[in-house]
Amino acid sequence: MKILVPVKRVVDYNVKIRVKPDGTGVELANVKMSMNPFDEISVEEALRLKEAGKAEEVVVVSIGPAKAEETLRTALAMGADRAILVETDDQIEPLTVAKILKAVADAEQPGLIIVGKQAIDDDSNQTGQMLAALLGMPQATFASKIEIEIGDGKAQVTREVDGGLQTIEIKLPAVVTTDLRLNEPRYASLPNIMKAKKKPLDKKSPDDFGISTTPRLKVLKTEEPSGRKAGVKVKSVAELIDKLKNEAGVL
Ligand code: AMP
Repeated sequence: MKILVPVKRVVDYNVKIRVKPDGTGVELANVKMSMNPFDEISVEEALRLKEAGKAEEVVVVSIGPAKAEETLRTALAMGADRAILVETDDQIEPLTVAKILKAVADAEQPGLIIVGKQAIDDDSNQTGQMLAALLGMPQATFASKIEIEIGDGKAQVTREVDGGLQTIEIKLPAVVTTDLRLNEPRYASLPNIMKAKKKPLDKKSPDDFGISTTPRLKVLKTEEPSGRKAGVKVKSVAELIDKLKNEAGVL
């Protein structure tokens, strides 16, 4: 079985995000970019399934600028076998991403597609669901455990839901989206980073699939959350109670 894993290049989760002065988005110039954390979890899970003999090949795919090659090389250094970069400088919306991923899946015929539950830059939480719909495949979202039964061509997926954990069975091929507690991604070792430079990376463009990247929605404004007000020191319990009653209105 082949596993396809989409990986997105996003602002590193440790970076303190700043909104651009004109409010059109967040500052990306000279900002550290990394693989979307949920996609690291997806790559890790695909590698574990391969190591357990449940899959033969792990293919990673990214849609984005030429620099997204670095993100793909990171996935290759973690252990993925092959990469596909669909190169575009346009801002790509989740539906367009899903359409491109469908075209890639049609060509690659994976038995399982492991997608992150959300990209931490746009927080859309849409791509996996739309991809499953476009492909007409079963889907299991927010996975915290994936077990594959090869002979039966089925997967049991434990999902994080409000009330706790739910385990469902889906027929493969299928789309699974990953939640935070699925696993802890490995670090790429230096020798593997060197080896990853020689692994195959195929370059395509959205035009190769006849897919338009014209946006359907427009960002009107982006705002930073309002800062916290400075605290004050009170001299007595009586003053604290008075403030809580009469200023904060919480008592
Ligand atoms: P989203 O629906 O934008 O929150 O993204 C959910 C998931 O879709 C991500 O975790 C990725 O696995 C995948 N994805 C979104 N955008 C891209 C992209 N440009 N390239 C590759 N995968 C993507």
